[in-house]
Amino acid sequence: MTLRLHDTLRGQLLPFEPPTDQPIGMYVCGVTPYDTGHLGHAFTYVSFDVLHRYLEYLGHDVRYVQNLTDVDDDMLRRARERGEDYLTLGNRWVTTFRTEMDALNWLPPDVYPRATEHIPQMQAMIGALLERGHAYAAEGNVYFSVASWPAFGALSGLPRNAMLPIANERGNVPDMAGKRDPLDFVLWQRSLSDEPVWDAPWGAGRPGWHIECSAMATTYLGNQFAIHGGGGDLAFPHHEAEIAQSEAASGQRPFVEFWLHTGMLRQAGEKMSKSLGNLVLVRDLLRSYPGDAIRHYLVSHHYRHEVDFDEAVLEASGLAAARLRRACLRAEEIAPVAPPPADPDALLPAVAGHRARFLAAMADDLDTPAALAELHALAAICGEAGDPHLVAQAGWMIHELGGRVLGLRLASVPVTTPEGVPAT
Ligand SMILES: [Zn+2]
Repeated sequence: MTLRLHDTLRGQLLPFEPPTDQPIGMYVCGVTPYDTGHLGHAFTYVSFDVLHRYLEYLGHDVRYVQNLTDVDDDMLRRARERGEDYLTLGNRWVTTFRTEMDALNWLPPDVYPRATEHIPQMQAMIGALLERGHAYAAEGNVYFSVASWPAFGALSGLPRNAMLPIANERGNVPDMAGKRDPLDFVLWQRSLSDEPVWDAPWGAGRPGWHIECSAMATTYLGNQFAIHGGGGDLAFPHHEAEIAQSEAASGQRPFVEFWLHTGMLRQAGEKMSKSLGNLVLVRDLLRSYPGDAIRHYLVSHHYRHEVDFDEAVLEASGLAAARLRRACLRAEEIAPVAPPPADPDALLPAVAGHRARFLAAMADDLDTPAALAELHALAAICGEAGDPHLVAQAGWMIHELGGRVLGLRLASVPVTTPEGVPAT
């Protein structure tokens, strides 16, 4: 079964061929730790956690890097408002973020780099861009010259006149001193008097947001790697800028083979955002719902679709997750020891069929709603079948696929974690 994923750059579903000689490199843009996490963050990180788990279930080695943007305009603004050191502020929210994601049962990324610990790598990349004529220094700032990169816009597919207003909404300052083009983006900027500052050949200052991710991604995954992900609102300008500066600095293309973007969260039809005051916070949900209820709710939506938050559906997800858990517990009662991971030939036909359809759904651009439906079909078997052998197999299969692939906690016995299992 070939795994097909949707690549934003090429705009279609394409077969994903993992590299054979190295782990699958996966970089996901992490949080800017200045505030509490909302359900949109959780949707993104749970979606990539499922991809991480699924690739490992298939037997692949994954090197998962998720950064922390611990110095940028938002961080510094919030630190100033609170009269607090930006690193102290960042550390506090990093701890909160990790605690929330642990509650949602994520597998932590392999590398969790912080922007402030990678300034030399950012400066090396900026130096290469200046040398190659893709960047210019002006008024103590360094800008990437968009005109030097004709492919700028390929990821988002936006025409030039549509780019500027969106970039401005997402951090671009069109009239910064010395800019040749309002769309040219900051690689390095002069720090204000109360901001952190690092020495640099082109003037002391601090990095721009986009270069942080390019430098951290290439430090840990090389100039070219398999998967780069993030929320849909990062495609432009953040990821567009990452492609331009990474490829221009290294001279190697493509920077990334597959660009994956998650859908946005909405509340009563409106975008969930701080300015509208309609954020659903993970912290608040965890007071009322177990982690499995929230995760079940999130994976019951396809990662590329918009999610219109509906608490009644979340409540129903809590009941549905409990139903899966009961099926697992019933199997444990009959066969207390976790069986070895599924050998398709040893499975009863009904269980083998649901497993095959679960894996087919996952191979189809991670269709988790369809995959989840197969788990509920297995749970129905546990509720009805009299044959203990069938109940035990169905329950343990929910445990294996729901636990290892979808990341639900389910029953109390840990599932064995062997080498990969054939997907066919
Ligand atoms: Zn990023």
